Amino acid sequence: MKSYRKELWFQVPTRRGFVNITPQLQECLAASGIQEGLLLCNAMHITASVFINDDEGGLHHDFEKWLEQLAPHEPINRYLHNRTGEDNGDAHLKRTLMGREVVVAVTGGKLDFGPWEQIFYGEFDGRRRKRVLVKIIGE
Ligand code: ZN
Repeated sequence: MKSYRKELWFQVPTRRGFVNITPQLQECLAASGIQEGLLLCNAMHITASVFINDDEGGLHHDFEKWLEQLAPHEPINRYLHNRTGEDNGDAHLKRTLMGREVVVAVTGGKLDFGPWEQIFYGEFDGRRRKRVLVKIIGE
């Protein structure tokens, strides 16, 4: 069995944002040489997500609105977590809502997606460098 590991770095210039990381993951898969197996991709920070959905701007705006309704950034004193001196209580909740990781089947050397599926990095407390782990196993 082959195994491949890589860390991808991101710095989103705003507090929140979504980045389509599918092309980078396809490059990782090509570099791994794996034809049949599984690709795992997870955010290595507890205020960021990796998730699969459609690359459609309206939907991303809907996600942003939905997340702000469920876990508004302000007022920051609504979160006990922010008593630590941080202001990212909302970002931890948003991360949990959008998920930590995705696993995608690798078939014939390609990511075996359903229709319209793309992989995104979701940032909820940006303006600093953060990592995503890519692990691919198979043959
Ligand atoms: Zn925090």
